[in-house]
Order: sequence, then structure tokens, then C-alpha cells
Amino acid sequence: MRLEAITFDLDDTLWDNGGVMRRTEEGHYAWLDAALAEWLEERLSEQGEVAHQAGTRGRFAERFPLEAFLVRRQRLAGAHPLRRGDFTWLRRRALADLLGEYGLAAEHAEHWASRAMERFMVLRHEVTPHAEVDELLDELGRRYQLASITNGNVEIARLALGRHFPVAIAAGELLAPKPDPRPFLAALAQLRAAPSRALHVGDSWEEDALPARRLGMQAAWIGPDDRALPAGIHRLGHVRELPELIRWLERRR
Ligand SMILES: [Mg+2]
Repeated sequence: MRLEAITFDLDDTLWDNGGVMRRTEEGHYAWLDAALAEWLEERLSEQGEVAHQAGTRGRFAERFPLEAFLVRRQRLAGAHPLRRGDFTWLRRRALADLLGEYGLAAEHAEHWASRAMERFMVLRHEVTPHAEVDELLDELGRRYQLASITNGNVEIARLALGRHFPVAIAAGELLAPKPDPRPFLAALAQLRAAPSRALHVGDSWEEDALPARRLGMQAAWIGPDDRALPAGIHRLGHVRELPELIRWLERRR
């Protein structure tokens, strides 16, 4: 077959994401807790007695531990099914709600939710791509059209790797997270490639391999060797094995 386009999942495909998410989650919440406490203290000393009562409310993260934030996001996702994949929206909304319940006025709750999300996005982008990835994409980019398709909130343009991806689809923000076919179709339309001439690479069986295959794309699934593969889905142990698969696909008639 002749391949024209390759689409890539990002998290846990081009880098290991587990540690990144944990650091980001804990890091931005701890930052918010500390920055907010400092701000409240300054306000208390400016406003004196009247605001003194507010000082007895305790720290934000004591009142709402990280676990409570997670539960709130899940509840919001349940209440707003269309937004369930728009993690940035869910996070900002949940934070603003909790901050409001903590006692901040609406405008301050919105302000601190935004500041915390800025911090979140800085930490979220501190990813370390697998060592082979930059060169791999460089080579593939000479022969194929490349796109990224993520359900996550990494903006690939903020990373050095972004230069390899003229097309980057943020499926959650499209309100159509994978396995919805729309992000795949959007990428292929922008690359002007037919599904039958495209390969999708990703680590999720449900969100990468199966939906790509249903559209008639080839799928490279990065996962354990624990299941029978339907025709058109090819297993890789690591993204570095991709060139070998591509050579094999290109040789096939
Ligand atoms: Mg992934």
C-alpha cells in the first residue's frame, strides 16, 4: 500500500505521561493553595477587623483536598456530557466553583481559577518525549503528511516537537474526543488524505486503534502483546518500532 499521512496520539505515545500528570495535578493545586493563602493574608492585613472572620476559614486545600477537586470534576463531567472531553473547561469550572464555596467572590474565584490553570498548563507541558521521537518525526515528515490528534490538553505548538505537526487536532476542545471519528476525519481532511492511505499511531485500544480502523485507516497500536489483532491493527512495543512497520506496510501489495 502507498501511505500518504500518519496521525499521532500524543500522551503515552510520544512520551510517558503518568509522571507528568501527577506532577501537574499536585503542583498546580499546591501552587494555588499557597498563592491564595498569601493573597488572603495580605487582604486581611489591609482590611483589618472586618475581614478577620474570613481568616478562620482555613486553607483552601484543607477544606477541599485534591480528591475533592477530582470528585467535583467527575460530577461536572456527568452534568455536562457534551463537555466531558474538554478537560481544560472542566478543570477551570470545578476550580472556580470550589473557590466560590470556599468564600471568594465570583470575580476572585474566576481570577484564581484562571491563574491556577495557567500554572497547570505550564506544568502540563513539561513533558520529555522519548529520545528517538524528534528524529523519527523529522524523517517521517519528509515523506508523509503528519498530524497530531489528542484528547488531552497539551498544545503541541508549545513544544519543540510542534514543528513536525502542521495539523494538530485537540479533540476534547472539538467536544468530540476519540473514539469519536470526527477528530480523525478533521485531521485527514486538513491533510487532504484518504483514510485508506493513512496510518494512526496511538496507545489506546479503544480511543486510537479501534476508531482509526473503523474509518479504514491502518492502526499502529502501542500496547502489550496480550490479544489477537484484527486485520489492519498492528502492535508496536514502542513508537521507535514504527519505521519497521511502515516499511512492511509499504512493501505490501
Ligand atoms: Mg495516549
